[in-house]
Amino acid sequence: MTEFSREELNQFIGLHRESKNFINLNPIQRGGILTPEARKALVEFGDGYSIYDLSPGLEIEKIPLVKRFISDILPRFLGADAVRITLGAREGIFNVMHSITKPGDTILVDGNRHYTTITAAERAGLRVIEVPDSGYPEYRIDVENYEALLKEHKPKLLILTYPDGNYGNLPDAKKLGEISKEYQVPYLINGAYAVGRMPISMKEIGADFIIGSGHKSMASSGPIGVLGMDKKWEKPLLRRSDRYPEKSVEFLGCELRGSAIATLMGSFPAVVERVKNWSREVENSRYFIDKIEEIDGIKQLGVRPTGHDLNFLETRVFYEISKRHKRRGFFLYRELKKRGITGIKPGMTKNFKLSTYQLKKEELKIVINAFEEISRMD
Ligand SMILES: *Cc1c(COP(=O)(O)O)cnc(C)c1O
Repeated sequence: MTEFSREELNQFIGLHRESKNFINLNPIQRGGILTPEARKALVEFGDGYSIYDLSPGLEIEKIPLVKRFISDILPRFLGADAVRITLGAREGIFNVMHSITKPGDTILVDGNRHYTTITAAERAGLRVIEVPDSGYPEYRIDVENYEALLKEHKPKLLILTYPDGNYGNLPDAKKLGEISKEYQVPYLINGAYAVGRMPISMKEIGADFIIGSGHKSMASSGPIGVLGMDKKWEKPLLRRSDRYPEKSVEFLGCELRGSAIATLMGSFPAVVERVKNWSREVENSRYFIDKIEEIDGIKQLGVRPTGHDLNFLETRVFYEISKRHKRRGFFLYRELKKRGITGIKPGMTKNFKLSTYQLKKEELKIVINAFEEISRMD
């Protein structure tokens, strides 16, 4: 057997997060912060397969409380007929592609799609056509542009990212629902940045599938996601194994295993409440953008006024400083860190995205002041 030195092994112990108590502006992290209840659940179910303690012998999805959550509570929350737990948004997108298309088929996606839409499509062997955005400065997706491409390419699936993960743009998802019905093409709404943050309903949008990400937007430790579907897709998506008639093929029996589901359930009451407060989140985000744009050389890109907590800023003022600063682009990250703020990618100064989700007014003011101070640096 291979021998490892103690040094080699011990480096893995005691990992910690230096900036745990900082104000974190990283969009991918703001919606995944656990509630106290979920944090408790994480510790309680931290041991591998310990969820089975709830009912040894039963399928996890059939443990009464889990079952109620998946087959009643989540469908109502998503406006879907059936829900499956996935390992994340990307896996859910792949599950749909893999179940309802064949390799070589074409799908139509918005130009602001997440990269995982592309990797999922590659894994499923699909040809991807992108509906272009309007370019600088709005990067708007006009869903009516799906129509011409629909006629031309006869896609087997439409995907809309709602909102996209760069600009936080919210295209007219309902309108695309109508278009998808008219052309009878299944429609998937990728709500990785919507489900668990803002009100959203698959049925109201008129979509066939809805995707959410637990670790991104549902106050859960990951990896975990939700996939909601219209009942007409249960047959292909929930098809059963020939040899194990109880087990689903697409989900390899059942994707739900570790502690993540306990956190998703533990935080769910708070998630339901926070979704109701979405308009306040948008107000806070607009307040932040208004204030930050008072600084010369900072401008929000994407559709205005913003309708989401995730925003993309063009920050020429920081870029100009980086050109004369000895630390170059890294100065911004360091200056923010000195002020207890993290979440902007190290090295970025020209533009970057950030989220104000669930930050308190006082915290927003700290960030605004920090940006102002830094913008005045020589
Ligand atoms: C983050 C993100 C994903 C991937 O989410 P996972 O749950 O980590 O797979 C997919 N789509 C969008 C739009 C995202 O922002």
